[in-house]
Amino acid sequence: MLLATALLWVFSCTADSLHAELLAGTAKVDITNRTGPVNDPLFVKALVLRSGETTAVIMTLDAVAVGEIGHINNDYLPALRARVQKEFGIAPTQILVNASHCHGIVAPDVGECSFQAVSQALKNLVPVRVGVGVGHEDRVSENRRIKLKSGKTVDVRHAYSFAADADIASVGPIDPAIGVLRLDRVDGRPLAVVYNFACHPIQGVPSGANTADMTGFASQVIEDNLGHGAVALFVQGCGGDINPVSYKAVDQPRDAEPLGNMLGLSTLKAVHRIQTQVDERLVVRNETLALPRSDQADRIAQLEQEQTRLAASFKGTTLNFKTFLQLMVKHGLTGEFPSSPASRYLHEKALGREQLSRLDAENRKNVEAYLQNILAMEELTRVQTNLALLRKHQAQNIAAGKRTVDVELASLRIGEFMLLTFPGELTVQIGLNLKSKSPHPSTFIAGYTNGYIYYAPTKEQLENPGNAQEDCDSILAPEWQEMFEKKAIDMLNAL
Ligand SMILES: [Zn+2]
Repeated sequence: MLLATALLWVFSCTADSLHAELLAGTAKVDITNRTGPVNDPLFVKALVLRSGETTAVIMTLDAVAVGEIGHINNDYLPALRARVQKEFGIAPTQILVNASHCHGIVAPDVGECSFQAVSQALKNLVPVRVGVGVGHEDRVSENRRIKLKSGKTVDVRHAYSFAADADIASVGPIDPAIGVLRLDRVDGRPLAVVYNFACHPIQGVPSGANTADMTGFASQVIEDNLGHGAVALFVQGCGGDINPVSYKAVDQPRDAEPLGNMLGLSTLKAVHRIQTQVDERLVVRNETLALPRSDQADRIAQLEQEQTRLAASFKGTTLNFKTFLQLMVKHGLTGEFPSSPASRYLHEKALGREQLSRLDAENRKNVEAYLQNILAMEELTRVQTNLALLRKHQAQNIAAGKRTVDVELASLRIGEFMLLTFPGELTVQIGLNLKSKSPHPSTFIAGYTNGYIYYAPTKEQLENPGNAQEDCDSILAPEWQEMFEKKAIDMLNAL
């Protein structure tokens, strides 16, 4: 018995010493632009992982995108990677940078802050235990693409009106899953939480001041609750067509904080369920995929025709906005007797006259005609906004001088946690597809990583006969989806 115990002890020591340890270090640096009012801070966060010869750096930015749009320049990522390689010998392909896609404003020295974050995280490396879990949050997000009875799809933006209730047929899916990676120090104290969720963090705060939005609040909730200096890194998922709930509410100020609190607490529930263990597996791979660029010439011509048709559809009525609104209210209030008390109508009837009823019928006709003008105006606004996006990207695609765009994909394994990244706004169905097809149960997908190539919607969405931002604010041809999904699954299989 004694011998068996001794042997077991020797065996376990040997097994441990054979294993490369997984090390992790974190850092966060404030990148808030403070030239205007600030509600809450924006951060760049770095998580450095090391196992044997392999080092991976996961960075998250409270910013709209890694280059191309917003306040981070296109040279940000190559400059940061070159400096990290020069100073620390970490290859550029080992560095993943994800933008939360919040619309807050970062400070001009975001590049320097990002380098400092990596530098500090490297100094903080300690042995860690790893665990993976999935949280659930279905109260904070909604799909912003609305299918109409006409077969067209429109989307929910501040740039134009919501679709009319009578036209709406169905709505798209959300992904309520929160992918969670938990890293603990060997004594069990939490070191870092990486969490992945799909939603545009664009709710804003009532004051309108600079904010890291929903996901900034969620990360703060997680860090405050875990304590021990644990850092929460939010990795934006396939949020291309996912908005915060009540995004267009006009009855109360839009506020990201309660939504972020819910997301943070739901993430914490998952964090607390995770049992961490020793697992030194760390893999990071990086591949370039050439995707087809779109040619939107036909669609642009069609939309220009639609623009002309809508402009020609406006018909004159006797009403102006003031009289229209008065009649709308009166007719809405008392459908039967809008113009006078009911008694006047009875007097008229008794005297064999129907003058009030005639007036009401005439008014109803004019209100309806004016309403049609308003609906045409709303449609024209959608057409013009999306036409501008199509023209912009058509010009970009022509200027590119080739029919493909090279995109950088990365795959990452940390223990049982698998992450596949893409540099654009993947719509939620693509994330759901990849999660269901992946050979690994804990697979998570991140858009908005290592660059920005605008929206990346499904083939079906790109062929939308209507006009929605995701299908117009894109440089990709519909065939891109199948190519990407195949490549993504290959990369996940290889992890
Ligand atoms: Zn977006």
